[in-house]
Amino acid sequence: MTAAEFAALCVPSALSLREAREALDRTARGVLLVLQPDGRLLRTLTDGDLRRAALQQIPDGSTLSDLPRVSPVTLGHEAGPAAGLALLDQHQIDHLPVVDAEGRPIDIILRRELSSRIWLSSPHLGEDETGFVEEAFRTNWIAPLGPHVDGFERELAIHVGTGHAAAVSSGTAAIHLALLLLGVRPGDTVFCSSLTFVGSCNPILYCGANPVFIDSEPGSWNMSPAALERAFDAALRENRMPRCVILVNLYGQSADMDALLPLCERHGVPVLEDAAESLGALYKGRSSGTFGRIGVYSFNGNKIITTSGGGMLVSQDAALMERARKLATQAREPAAYYEHREIGFNYRMSNVLAGIGRGQLRVLEQRVAQRRRVFEAYRAALEDLLDVTWMPEAEGMRSTRWLSCLVLQGNRVRERRDLVLRSMERHSVEARPVWKPMHLQPLFRDAPFFAHAPGQDVSASLFEAGICLPSGSNLTDDQVAQVIGHLRRALQQAGKTHAAA
Ligand SMILES: *Cc1c(COP(=O)(O)O)cnc(C)c1O
Repeated sequence: MTAAEFAALCVPSALSLREAREALDRTARGVLLVLQPDGRLLRTLTDGDLRRAALQQIPDGSTLSDLPRVSPVTLGHEAGPAAGLALLDQHQIDHLPVVDAEGRPIDIILRRELSSRIWLSSPHLGEDETGFVEEAFRTNWIAPLGPHVDGFERELAIHVGTGHAAAVSSGTAAIHLALLLLGVRPGDTVFCSSLTFVGSCNPILYCGANPVFIDSEPGSWNMSPAALERAFDAALRENRMPRCVILVNLYGQSADMDALLPLCERHGVPVLEDAAESLGALYKGRSSGTFGRIGVYSFNGNKIITTSGGGMLVSQDAALMERARKLATQAREPAAYYEHREIGFNYRMSNVLAGIGRGQLRVLEQRVAQRRRVFEAYRAALEDLLDVTWMPEAEGMRSTRWLSCLVLQGNRVRERRDLVLRSMERHSVEARPVWKPMHLQPLFRDAPFFAHAPGQDVSASLFEAGICLPSGSNLTDDQVAQVIGHLRRALQQAGKTHAAA
């Protein structure tokens, strides 16, 4: 519902019953919000109320304030979504006005919204997945490993234009193996982007190593070359050079490789590229994930393509990927009696899931186009809002817009962010804050952090002011329009509440 549509539902109590009937027909939501002269909510009005008035022979020319008194069921603007649903059920109603602290209506929840949640990023199957999975069943390749695993590895490597790939059970498992392959050992230092999902850096702890977190730069939201340079300088001084650098490509966009890679090369430190969120993205025409010595993708349910759960390592180095496959299958030596010389893991992807992955890979380019279209719809529809900026797409990059992200401008951004998120959630729209940076997480409270510039913590600012919107490739035009309507009203409301505060 747009702000104008909501405004049309709000009518003065001086309206006649006849005029109210016309307004109900015109707005076609089945409900009006009747306001007292001071703007507070007097009551709601439905067709049923008008029918009862007719039965009681209240004349059509009477005003809404002449109707028998009923006190409206309302939801306070600070209440959560569960309270809204409870009230709808308890009173068996289909509309629930939301009122501010003074009792003025600011929003209305419709029951049908709550039965069709709009997700942040939900799985979107293509047409070929079931065929591949059925083939796995038909040929009895339900056991882990099998032709789909080999096929998925080969096809993904070709798709992104790299030499070799190793399919594993999750993106996190892929990062863990990649760290081991790059020689990370207990007590080592590993540099990692701070603005990311914890899956990027939990594996540093699995290895018994110590993370050092690097801030973002404003242009791509990814690792700041300036911060990385200062981190290297400090490491040189303290003689604690990192074993590797985990470069994360956030929300479908590549980091600035031309600025970051030479710094790592100069110090001879290999790059692990965490492309879990950026499969399908390009940096100067080259696929995201193929810049590091090892790249990693994730096929978790919320990623741009999914196997319900899974991950992949890629590299130009065939021997390295062969070793990844070995470590992922309990580090079994090639002997019939299963000889073991080193620690291994049960990290391989199953043949059934790889079948889903092969089908998904065929629609990857479509999914990129669909997500970019969702982003473009948001950007175009909200172009007039001056207190919003969008995650930039830097020159020479193609973001997949895995998630459509915006940042609030102005004062008290964190409060306004929370107001907007709460308001979206009341309509069962899943929006989220931008990732909470790792250097602000209690888990990593002792880890060193290098800011973009002294006193300028870019990732913390993005976290405070950032919002990720529903971005799935399977969102309908109607759902995108609903998100836009809710967001616009939520932003206006948050702006007002903030101005009043
Ligand atoms: C999803 C994600 C991971 C982890 O992938 P899983 O498959 O969920 O284990 C790692 N890093 C980033 C940046 C991610 O978004």
